[in-house]
Order: sequence, then structure tokens, then C-alpha cells
Amino acid sequence: MKLTALRSVWETVTLLCFPRRCPLCDRVLGCDAVDGLLCPACAAREKELRHLPPRLPLTEHCFYAAAGAASAYYYEQEIRQAILRCKLHGHLWYLRELTDLATLRMFPAQPAERTGLLPVYLGVPHLRPFDCIVPVPPRLGEERKPRIPEYIARRMGRILDLPVYRALRPVRRMQPQKDLDLAGRLENRKKGYVVCDYPAVVGRRILLVDDVITSGATVSACAQALFEGGAADVFAVSLAVEEERPHILPNNKEIRYEAAGHRH
Ligand SMILES: [Zn+2]
Repeated sequence: MKLTALRSVWETVTLLCFPRRCPLCDRVLGCDAVDGLLCPACAAREKELRHLPPRLPLTEHCFYAAAGAASAYYYEQEIRQAILRCKLHGHLWYLRELTDLATLRMFPAQPAERTGLLPVYLGVPHLRPFDCIVPVPPRLGEERKPRIPEYIARRMGRILDLPVYRALRPVRRMQPQKDLDLAGRLENRKKGYVVCDYPAVVGRRILLVDDVITSGATVSACAQALFEGGAADVFAVSLAVEEERPHILPNNKEIRYEAAGHRH
């Protein structure tokens, strides 16, 4: 039996034993799950939290080395809670549903036929924009913690049918970014990574994967190391991004009514 067939048998068995849950609210998913990944009650909320378009604006972040970056969601509310459940509480199985959702929102892919199956990539096989995936590595001293970007990368790699390589490693200790301003964050990460698997990188178009993008300092430092290691191109993606939301204007209908002196 082929490995893929074995894997699908294994997934059916695990689905029966451990039913899938909505990553936003933790309810068990039924046959009415939206895209096979969300409970119907969370579908509208998921739509509100999407980063549209997924490509991140350069005015809000600093991607000094990566060709660009994209995120599926704003790092807010239910999405933030779901990611923190994985990071802080070790509930890593949410990453499967979150990664499937993010991949559907960022790439040409269609939802799986039913809950528990893999979304289907619709890209043209011989015109793929990337050759492989490289996850952002853990910081020095945190190698034993769950490697969230790597979990995401491996799941995304299965959907997009791309190999995943641990091609980067940090070269020094770096303090957490959260207490630093933009200049401090860029400086803290700069020259912080090197390539440790050159054959995986040289001449490759690389999809760099992280869980959350904030300033862009980490993915930029990783992209710089990949370019210095011989990569042909680097584009970064993440599940979510910390970013100011654009100001939401009242819809045109209301403006028109107010201008005409009508009120509901
Ligand atoms: Zn839900």
C-alpha cells in the first residue's frame, strides 16, 4: 500500500477517535461545517477577521529582504486566541484547521470534500511559484518548545505539494521582540540567522513560513540569510498579521440617505 493511502486510512481512524473542532470556538464540527473547517456560527466572524487582500502593505511593515509577504488573518480576537491556544497551551491540533483555512484564503485551493480531508491545491503543477518551504526556526534555547512555524509549514507543504526543509538556524541569542520598537526589532533580528542546508536553498524560490508577522523584522532577517545562502526568491507567509485595520467607512447607502435628508 502506498504511503498516501496509508496516511488517509490513518486520518480516517483518527477522525473517528478524535473529531475535528472549530478552531475559532472549539465546537465539534458536524457535516454542516463551512469549508469542512469552521462551524456555521463562526463563518461570519472568520470572514471579518480575514486580511483582504492577503498581501501585506509595505507601508505597515518592513520587508527589507523578502520579495513580499502575505497573511490570511488579522492577529485579533478569535484568531489570536486560537494561535495562543496552540502556542501557550500546546493544543497543536488547531494548527491543522488554521493552516488549512489560511491556505484556502491565500492560495488557489478548494476546500476538502469533507471534514478531516486535505484541501485541494488548484495551481498549475508545472508553473508553481515556489520550489520549497522553509519555516522560521525557533530561537536559541527554545528548540524544545513546539515548533509552530514548522507544523504550519509541514501542513502547508502537504496541501501545496512542496518539500519542507529546516534550512535556517539562529546564530545568536535574540531577546523577545514584544518590548522593542521597530528600530529595536530590526536590529535585534538583523544577521540573526544563517543557512544550515545549502542544497535546499541554492537557486530555489522559497516560501518562508511563520505563525504571526508583526513588524516583518524576523521574516526579513530570515529572507536575508536565505538570499545570502543562494536562494533565488523568498516570499513570506503567516497565518496572521498584527496590523492596524483600515478605517471602515459607513456603507454608501447610508451616506446617500443622510445626504438626501432621509433617516431610518
Ligand atoms: Zn466555531
